[in-house]
Amino acid sequence: MSVQIQTQPSSSLPTYDDVITAAWRIADVAHRTPVLTSRTADARTDGKLFFKAENLQRGGAFKFRGAYNAIARLSEEAKKRGVVAFSSGNHAQAIAYAGQLQNVPTVIIMPKDAPATKVAATRGYGGEVVSYDRYTEDREEIGRRLSAERGLTLIPPYDHEDVIAGQGTAAKELIEEVGPLDMLLVCVGGGGLLAGSALAAHALSPGCRIYGVEPEAGNDAQQSFRSGSIVRIPVPVTIADGAQTTYIGQKTFPIIRALVSDMVTVTDEMLVDTMRFFAERMKIVVEPTGCLAAAAALHGIVPCKGRRVGIIVSGGNVDPKAFAGFLAG
Ligand SMILES: *Cc1c(COP(=O)(O)O)cnc(C)c1O
Repeated sequence: MSVQIQTQPSSSLPTYDDVITAAWRIADVAHRTPVLTSRTADARTDGKLFFKAENLQRGGAFKFRGAYNAIARLSEEAKKRGVVAFSSGNHAQAIAYAGQLQNVPTVIIMPKDAPATKVAATRGYGGEVVSYDRYTEDREEIGRRLSAERGLTLIPPYDHEDVIAGQGTAAKELIEEVGPLDMLLVCVGGGGLLAGSALAAHALSPGCRIYGVEPEAGNDAQQSFRSGSIVRIPVPVTIADGAQTTYIGQKTFPIIRALVSDMVTVTDEMLVDTMRFFAERMKIVVEPTGCLAAAAALHGIVPCKGRRVGIIVSGGNVDPKAFAGFLAG
């Protein structure tokens, strides 16, 4: 079951210029993460794959980029009052961490069933955690209420100009390092990473085909992309907890529609296989959501033969016990 909702034209969509200024703003604080290659992955796909390892970013995911950029852009008064964020994990951690580095108080709204490592890390970075039930309560509603009551600035996880621009810096670094690409594969939750990456790839590697990758159980962005208006779905059941969003953003969607070639999906089984591949062959810990883009390449969902393919490995925050379970299968 899905419901169509109207897309409002947005007056303030970010451009590649905003990605450039975001890159400048985060240059001294974010890691310039490594680009990894694997002969095994190349042999398996008949392509040349470049993995941008954002699992090695500060806070364990690319989200630090957008969070830091958005907080840095606030007025001094707004910084004093603090910020509030809602997130199933990595955005929360990123906001708490970026807030701590810029002396900005943070309140984080997290689902009661968020992975324990993510909740602990958020508290560890000094974030005040408020929990909610993601199956019955609306986190955006709670965020709006807290921001009204306490004068906090709400920084959403993806539907925000400065967040999108910040996320785009990972693809910018990737293309600047390895040169033009034939394809860029990016996972999709609310589309902040994909929209930002698309702005960067479109500007730096003209002709590069950009693909969004979603979990098969939660293909709302694919439905939206194909139908031309934002489709809302029930909370999908998938191990890709960072892509359990039920609809993509009003700011991310127009950028994605304009610049992205197609949206594809992968199964949870493919994600587990890819997680094992990363651990065994490339010696890196990648969370299920972080495996989406690579899974589409390694499982032939997007054929890579003879192509130079950029893959954003979005994060590595997975509970050690859960990770061991996935590897053991
Ligand atoms: C948030 C997140 C995503 C999805 O990003 P969007 O900008 O919401 O599309 C993907 N992977 C990881 C690891 C994330 O934390």
